[in-house]
Amino acid sequence: MGLFRRKTAEYTPKQWKITRKCLTLIFESSKSNYPQEFGALLRVDRVDKNTIIEVILLPGTISGDSHAIFHLHMLPVDYSVVGTVHSHPSSIARPSDADLDLFSHFGRIHIIVGVSPFGDVTWKAYDYIGHNVSMEII
Ligand SMILES: [Zn+2]
Repeated sequence: MGLFRRKTAEYTPKQWKITRKCLTLIFESSKSNYPQEFGALLRVDRVDKNTIIEVILLPGTISGDSHAIFHLHMLPVDYSVVGTVHSHPSSIARPSDADLDLFSHFGRIHIIVGVSPFGDVTWKAYDYIGHNVSMEII
């Protein structure tokens, strides 16, 4: 383990939350990018630091047909950015090996959205080792 791993710098809350507005934006973006992937960063509030209040689109990484849609050098050193969200056109909201590698290097919370050809969405949140994390919608 390196001394400078960013994810160790901040505490991880016991209960993650996300606003319904953010979740709706995530679902709409995932559907409108189908059959390509959608990817963005997640920002938390600055008080309790456990509620995702903003979805930040990364220029040039919005769509792609591989899981390598996030480039580590593009990720901000901003502790209110707590993780990532991306969609799986396969409709399966489970992290790939590439996803787990990303999770282990950046952020503390990650959302994957599975999109079906019929526009149905499923979603799950994961911690930095790929364990399922519960997230409350507020
Ligand atoms: Zn993925």
